[in-house]
Amino acid sequence: MAKIFNTLTRRLDPFIPGGVAKDSTAEYPPVTIYSCGPTVYSYAHIGNFRTFVFNDFLRRYLKFRGYTVNHAMNITDVDDKTIAGALKEGVTLKEYTDNYTQIFFEDCKTLNIEPVEHYPRATESIDAMIDIIAHLDKKGLIYEKDGSLYFSIAKFHKYGRLSNVTSMDIKAGARYDADEYTKEDVRDFALWKAPKENEPYWETPFGKGRPGWHIECSAMVRKIFGTTIDIHTGGVDLIFPHHENEIAQSEAAYDEPFVRYWLHVEHLLVEGSKMSKSLGNFFTLRDLLDKGYSPRAIRYLLLTAHYRKQLNFTFDGLTQAGQALLRIDNLIARLNDIKQEKPINEEAEKRCSQFIGSFIEAVDDDLNIAEGIGTFFDFLHDINTLIDKRMLGKADADTIMHILNHIDSVFGFIFFHGTVTVNKEEIEALIEERNKARKEKNFTKADSIRDELYSKGIIVQDTREGTRWLIKS
Ligand SMILES: [Zn+2]
Repeated sequence: MAKIFNTLTRRLDPFIPGGVAKDSTAEYPPVTIYSCGPTVYSYAHIGNFRTFVFNDFLRRYLKFRGYTVNHAMNITDVDDKTIAGALKEGVTLKEYTDNYTQIFFEDCKTLNIEPVEHYPRATESIDAMIDIIAHLDKKGLIYEKDGSLYFSIAKFHKYGRLSNVTSMDIKAGARYDADEYTKEDVRDFALWKAPKENEPYWETPFGKGRPGWHIECSAMVRKIFGTTIDIHTGGVDLIFPHHENEIAQSEAAYDEPFVRYWLHVEHLLVEGSKMSKSLGNFFTLRDLLDKGYSPRAIRYLLLTAHYRKQLNFTFDGLTQAGQALLRIDNLIARLNDIKQEKPINEEAEKRCSQFIGSFIEAVDDDLNIAEGIGTFFDFLHDINTLIDKRMLGKADADTIMHILNHIDSVFGFIFFHGTVTVNKEEIEALIEERNKARKEKNFTKADSIRDELYSKGIIVQDTREGTRWLIKS
């Protein structure tokens, strides 16, 4: 990957995993990535999934470019919301969060998001949090108030580098952190919180309590990777204060850079507005599936917008995503129809390698998938033209299918059909029956069979090569 926009430096930086340039990609150590994951108190919404699909695209693209990746995403299973949710339902915190963790994994699978290498849970990383707090304490950077421990921002002079927030910006009394504890300076944040009544707590060398949110990510990065990591991702809303505070804790505790590249994904809007329950435009993934939209089209729509641009999620956009996928499916069906052996077509061969080259050129430039997908549809168009001219034989079709498989290691929507399960024999029997009806000029019957198949999610097409069927997206 050539260049990547780094929130920390506010510019496109050359991408050098490990911080030391090598002659070839294969020589680099695994790219270490940490992504802020879900708080498992409820179903994740599609704004969350925009970020999670981006994380997936990032790791897939790095692998496509020849890197290996070592990727962690945390599961926040203790905070105000999870504690309140468990109390309300009268179950233990673990029972409550295990359920939503499971749901989160199912949703990821539904969207064809690859599992990452590590899913650390906050409640299983308390030892690493204690270690950070002990280091900070030794350096005199924390203080205690009413049983809670706070990080003293005034003593960390580099505070504000990531978000560009200065102490002048933080007005006295402004509420920017989600805790209600008293502290010496409004900018300070809680590392460790004194337990309130009915709340779960852990015994530590500095007393009973539970973790603040920010410390969790710093602790997990340390626990899993041990030292500076390459990439940290999250939504733009996490830059301040969450990521700023992660840097403060980690760099003050261990005196080494925390992260080389900070990548932040822009907001998702729904029909032009910020998603909110009161506006009625708040959707979880399952809401969209209940409305009949396919996971494949949702993945396509979330993945193909540039991560640093706001994405306006609309139902028209989802329909268009389905149409784009149909164009891909049509090409695949046409390639499958090519049975004739012919000498290799040099134009097709050249076009394949040219496509991969232009795709890489586009996406290497700050992960510009929007432009990358443009090069992909140009490629599809040109292949269709060659098929129209009947210039391709079986070997060419195989080569092109190979390219589609290769690029789908990044996209994950070409050969992925989500949860649609088809009974091939039943479909072919119905198509056979429809062909018979057409031969007998019983078009009413033929049309009704086509409609029946459509209602089962199958599109029937009559082509010069005969009748074929595709799975609707
Ligand atoms: Zn985080």
